[in-house]
Amino acid sequence: MTAERIDGKAFAARLRERVGEMAGQFEQWSGRKAGLAVVLVGEDPASQVYVRSKHKATVAAGMESFEHRLPADTSETDLMALVDQLNRDEAVDGILVQLPLPDHLDEQAVIAAISPNKDVDGFHVTNAGRLAVGQSGFVPCTPLGCIMLLTDRLGDLSGLEAVVIGRSNIVGKPMAQLLLDANATVTIAHSRTKDLPGVVKRADIVVAAVGRAEMVKAEWLKDGATVIDVGINRLPPAEGEEKGRLVGDVDYSGAESVAGAITPVPGGVGPMTIAVLLRNTLVAAYRNAGLDVPESL
Ligand code: NAD
Repeated sequence: MTAERIDGKAFAARLRERVGEMAGQFEQWSGRKAGLAVVLVGEDPASQVYVRSKHKATVAAGMESFEHRLPADTSETDLMALVDQLNRDEAVDGILVQLPLPDHLDEQAVIAAISPNKDVDGFHVTNAGRLAVGQSGFVPCTPLGCIMLLTDRLGDLSGLEAVVIGRSNIVGKPMAQLLLDANATVTIAHSRTKDLPGVVKRADIVVAAVGRAEMVKAEWLKDGATVIDVGINRLPPAEGEEKGRLVGDVDYSGAESVAGAITPVPGGVGPMTIAVLLRNTLVAAYRNAGLDVPESL
């Protein structure tokens, strides 16, 4: 048996198209474009790439992109003043402060300063709380993208055994919460879990969000399991290669012969993250304008 490849790239493209159409409708109804402000402090090369692609995707979806690039030695007071200004700016529906911040800045304090109603990353403690108690708020983009892929493939998740490997605030924990909301029976595994292969073996759904190249092996998986691989790891370059290959947390080539369906890396979960960010921004825009959020979002 060869697992179905879950094409996150194609799914994300369709989501972006839908967001683009709805963004046009929003503009007609409200007389302005939905707006996303992205704040980048410093010159971390990976962050620069992310910020550039977020900007391009926002503009391509017919939304306004406000970029704020601050020097690496920006003080917390200055950064907080910018966040405060963006909180009050009616043209800004969503605010994203690109992480990681330089060491002298307190990430938790900066996230806490963002208005929860503009926190399209879903990192604010108010939004984490809303997710935990089942109120509508903003859910972190990566796990929300994963649950979209899962429900698209499996439909109703009721009663399925789901194992989430990883317990970070931005992926593992909200992922587990979303699966629980979808009535799956959820286990969160992490670095202290005993017998991880045994835990994974009972899962109908495995979500791996660890950051360890090809850690999850084919023999850990239950036959036919649906596998969502969030990990992005660069292998050391092989001979003749300039850069090493990107791989996930799951040994894809082995898992393919056991799983029912699996997301590739790259081209699986990765493209979903920005698409969901655009979706969250548009949802914020509808809410901020006092309009009903279209169900198809
Ligand atoms: P993190 O480092 O914050 O958390 C990793 C988690 O893995 C921890 O909770 C830890 O307990 C667990 N863990 C570590 N070693 C383990 C082991 N041996 N066995 C079981 N669990 C173990 O990472 P994160 O921010 O949640 O990201 C996880 C991965 O997902 C990374 O590779 C990251 O690059 C990737 N990621 C991808 C996207 C995307 O858009 N596709 C978004 C966010 C993160």
